[in-house]
Amino acid sequence: LAARAQRVLAGGVSSDARRMPGVPLFVDHAQGAHLIDVDGTRYVDYVLGQGPAILGHSSPVVAAAVAAQARRGVVYSAQHEAEVEVAEAVCRLVPSAERVRFNSVGSEAVHGALRLARGHTGRAKVLKFEGHYHGWFDPVLYSVHPDLSRAGDPHAPSAVGGTGGQQLSSSADLVVAPWNDLAALTAIVDREGTDLAAIILEPILCNTGVIMPKPGFLEGVQKLCADIGALLVFDEIITGFRMAPGGAQEYLGITPDLATFGKAMAGGMQLSALVGKAEVMDDIATGKVAHAGTFNSHPVAIAAAKATLAVLDEQRDVVYPTLFDLGNRLAEGLRAAAARTGVPLLVTGPGPVVQTYVTEATEVSDYRDFAATDRATMARLHQLLLDRGVNIVPRGLWFLSTAHTADDVDQTVAVAEEALAAL
Ligand code: PMP
Repeated sequence: LAARAQRVLAGGVSSDARRMPGVPLFVDHAQGAHLIDVDGTRYVDYVLGQGPAILGHSSPVVAAAVAAQARRGVVYSAQHEAEVEVAEAVCRLVPSAERVRFNSVGSEAVHGALRLARGHTGRAKVLKFEGHYHGWFDPVLYSVHPDLSRAGDPHAPSAVGGTGGQQLSSSADLVVAPWNDLAALTAIVDREGTDLAAIILEPILCNTGVIMPKPGFLEGVQKLCADIGALLVFDEIITGFRMAPGGAQEYLGITPDLATFGKAMAGGMQLSALVGKAEVMDDIATGKVAHAGTFNSHPVAIAAAKATLAVLDEQRDVVYPTLFDLGNRLAEGLRAAAARTGVPLLVTGPGPVVQTYVTEATEVSDYRDFAATDRATMARLHQLLLDRGVNIVPRGLWFLSTAHTADDVDQTVAVAEEALAAL
């Protein structure tokens, strides 16, 4: 399969994020917390499709909704009741959501948010933070990701469109600031001030380490935005519906002007959302800012979202404690296994996502700290885990789902101890 893939798929894959050394994992099917590969090997899966499968793979609830809708029509490009119901659920659950527009994938929702911010404010520039990933569309693909930005220089506004920085371009309209450093941000905002349409961020950084905002940092960002009349945009494509029914904004208690959602929202189907204050979203309603997409509010994806959001909302008292408990159990188990094997492993994360780093450091508070960890050894650990039936995101990211059990986690910790010892 790998050889056939190499002959017809560029690089043998459909996403650079899946390119890994050796023979890649070819999945036969996925069920609950497990992937089963084409050789019949079973893996405990902490990738979950890069986060979406929050109810586990092939959740009966999601699968039934998808099958039922497929029989009633796969695509309409017309209004249908479930679209309104999902929008109502999002507005009820998400603090910043007074109005919603649906797209298919996260990158599109971010594109829509930045376009709207520019149209609404009449300003061109957008500020983002080092290491924060907002999708793979060129205008935001700077200094984002160790795999996607020029090696070794987290500040280089350089690598667009490829690994290793082969294809370079730059955008005068993107300003990049360090995360968790209010003094540095204030200086940059003072300089750029009235040209900034928006500040966009992952409210809990999940793409280059899992890093909480320092106490007061997001409040400071929000105040800077208010002072200069820029919009605050939370990119909740990972954190949305994962940290709480209302995302990181509910979990952290800060309401942005606009926010983007994707991944977990539809339990594994492709659905993203741009949400925000009615006053801002009205620029879409009036046609001042264009918003389009053939597959927007795709009926099958909407059906999956309706089913997923019903579970997350109605069973919130079980779902969220479960995700946090499993993640904390995993984190504590990994810390103990690392201590026993003498590997310097730092484990962070609020539970529904967990991050492991090979480093002597006791804290990682921004992208530069993350970039300074031993990522080559982390990649080897990923491979050792995979060889032993545990699948994680290669850079050391672990997603939990409601389908994982305490037994899955305990077995994983035992396997991880073997892998750490082998390391
Ligand atoms: N924003 C964030 C925070 C993400 O994590 C991702 C995907 N990893 C995106 C945007 C892009 O979403 P998609 O891959 O669905 O286009």
